Amino acid sequence: MRSMNKSFELSKKALEVMPGPHSNLPGYELFKPIYFVRGSGAHLYDVDGNDYLDYMAGLGAGILGYGNQEVTDTIKNQIDTLYYLDAARRNPLEIELAEKIIQYLPSAEKVRYLLSGTEAVQLVIRLARAYTKRPYFIRFDGHYHGWLDNVLGGAVNPDTTGRPFALYKNEDMFASKGRELSAGEQSFKLVWNDIETLERVLEKYGNEVALIIMEPINCNAGTCPPRHGYLERVRKLCDQYGIVLCFDEIITGFRVGLRGAQGLLGVTPDLTTLGKGVAGGIPFSAVAGKAEIMDQLTDRSVVGAGTFNGYPLGVASALATIRYLEKDNGAFYKRLEIIQNRLTSGLKDIAQKHSMPMLLQGAPGVFFYQFIYKEIAYNVQDWYPDSDHEKQERFRQLLFGEGVLIMFRARWYLSGGHTEKDIDRTLETVDKVMGII
Ligand code: PLP
Repeated sequence: MRSMNKSFELSKKALEVMPGPHSNLPGYELFKPIYFVRGSGAHLYDVDGNDYLDYMAGLGAGILGYGNQEVTDTIKNQIDTLYYLDAARRNPLEIELAEKIIQYLPSAEKVRYLLSGTEAVQLVIRLARAYTKRPYFIRFDGHYHGWLDNVLGGAVNPDTTGRPFALYKNEDMFASKGRELSAGEQSFKLVWNDIETLERVLEKYGNEVALIIMEPINCNAGTCPPRHGYLERVRKLCDQYGIVLCFDEIITGFRVGLRGAQGLLGVTPDLTTLGKGVAGGIPFSAVAGKAEIMDQLTDRSVVGAGTFNGYPLGVASALATIRYLEKDNGAFYKRLEIIQNRLTSGLKDIAQKHSMPMLLQGAPGVFFYQFIYKEIAYNVQDWYPDSDHEKQERFRQLLFGEGVLIMFRARWYLSGGHTEKDIDRTLETVDKVMGII
């Protein structure tokens, strides 16, 4: 049994001066608070001297693994005057970074930098409303776009006779006291991957809709892939009704490849949000998209402000990360694929050996699995109601007890830090744990 006494003591002390964890989405807590002191590759070390194999990767931001010396050195060489170069005194690296993003990301003609994913999404909503002069946006169940009132939670409205606004009651998954309830009436909330419903809603209300925003692969609720032809049809509908299409690629951006999920899937949105991994774990986000929409910022008809927007450390980190990811013809991604295949095929074999049901699906660098008999899940409705949540949680807890960290909701992130040896140790642990759940 691992001792966690020092972590427990620190967490008690922390509660005296801090109101719980830094990010507290309901149901998303790390089972027990651990205090880490060091990371290296895919390993984390806590104050009690325990070693963990990490598949949480900083909630997806840690795409490179911990302590990547090459990227750290590049960042250091790029900037040695971090603290006085502010947004008003611009840093030449910002142009090089925008050029790189435009080179790779199909939808990017211009790029604006911000700090968090939440902010990037809000800028997209504003840009789309200004561009179309329409009030509403459409978002989807199981897709997460940050913690602000107009995108946080809300249930799909079963009443399809009127405008299907997100229902803000206190029982929805991300319900929060203090939410502005009328913020639910900014968006229609629909089931994802259901083209008929979207068509029906647009037929009635298409000319009131400024924006459709979605994760092109629904990483936040099962790493669900789009159905064959779904994104293409959404793209067509957006063109037909003059609606701005945004892919929220805050998880998939540069994780699934430098061209993002849009490059992988071959559908180009008008706007894209990037965040998390783009700067290798340093706080940084961006909105990229069509020049005509983005230039509302150039002429200042749309305001997108921020003291730290384009701050040199973030820009330099994003540039160093892209340079690392593009090196040797994308060797990073080829290696990641080998590592991921080793892990996922190992998991499938072990589940079979223990006669466990298993739904396993994912995208490069991220996957999901649940104890459920299903070949593929296309949206949260496809897996959530049938899942054995207790078994899943027990599995996660037992893995944690053995020093393997996976995310809430059965998500696993891989990073450049994982080695074959790490994967083999993980599989040994999974085998042991599946024998007792
Ligand atoms: N969009 C997606 C798809 C996300 O997964 C997240 C965060 O998990 C966000 C937006 C919000 O980003 P941030 O937490 O940086 O505000």
